[in-house]
Amino acid sequence: MLRIRFHGRGGQGTKIASRLVGTAAFLDGLYAQDFPLYGAERRGAPIAAFTRISREPILERGVISEPDILIVMDETLLNDPMAMPLTGLKEDGVIFLNTTHTPAEAKNKYKIKAQIITLDITKIGIDTLGKPILSTLAGGVASRIAGIREDSLKKAIEKELSEIITDSELIKKNIEASLYCFNTIKPVEVKTSEIIHKGSTVISVPFEAASISTPSINTAGNTPLRKTGNWRTFKPIFNYELCNKCMICVARCPDGCISIMNERGFPSIDYDNCKGCLICIDECPVHAIEKVREVHTW
Ligand code: SF4
Ligand code: SF4
Repeated sequence: MLRIRFHGRGGQGTKIASRLVGTAAFLDGLYAQDFPLYGAERRGAPIAAFTRISREPILERGVISEPDILIVMDETLLNDPMAMPLTGLKEDGVIFLNTTHTPAEAKNKYKIKAQIITLDITKIGIDTLGKPILSTLAGGVASRIAGIREDSLKKAIEKELSEIITDSELIKKNIEASLYCFNTIKPVEVKTSEIIHKGSTVISVPFEAASISTPSINTAGNTPLRKTGNWRTFKPIFNYELCNKCMICVARCPDGCISIMNERGFPSIDYDNCKGCLICIDECPVHAIEKVREVHTW
């Protein structure tokens, strides 16, 4: 069995990526299972998704704690103690990292022993789709690493996207972008792991006591401690030559990040917490806010 775990941020398409790989594997004649894991989350928050692929029926359930393939769709998650995407990755596993850095640089930086593949799929998404939506791109990468056929991936994208969007041109662009990623990644050998519960018709999913396995609030009033500035793909920048100080952006920012006035009375942004939703750009009546892509350099 091949176990794939995806890590991304809300809005990047992590769940769809895992679904695409599962559907493509099914179209390849394999058994497949995929599902996401997220709670009452919001755009930008860390989420995970999972895909199991096997030549035999999959009786295993639950999250994948020891993946054969790890797909990290947002590099900043590697420094996020709430996400910890490297957890359980086997030394002989394969990790894909969405980054501008080379595999050697990433391996050294993050002390990763597993085989590592890198590609800046955020740039590919922006260039081809106009947005950092990464579902089909990460799906293309994961399908290649998992050894799925290109034609099955294409059919899977057509099927899955046609159920959620009606713009046929956008579906076509997604297919092109996904296949580009698929063919950019070189085939690799992935060591599969054994099927658990093989031959059994009864599956026992271990669970913890309710006090551990259910969400609980242990410390109240700690939201300000959760810095969300590293969630950004784009950074909003004010152009004070155009700004008329109407303060609409202050009112519209959903996270209250534009409340700090500078010494000239203009609004300014708390970049420690601005998550890059870009609502302020849409709301500014005089287009006084621009966006620049943030590339996370070390
Ligand atoms: S909405 Fe635009 S014009 Fe108004 S304060 Fe904000 S940046 Fe300035
Ligand atoms: S992008 Fe703009 S609206 Fe969104 S969190 Fe940052 S400052 Fe607020």
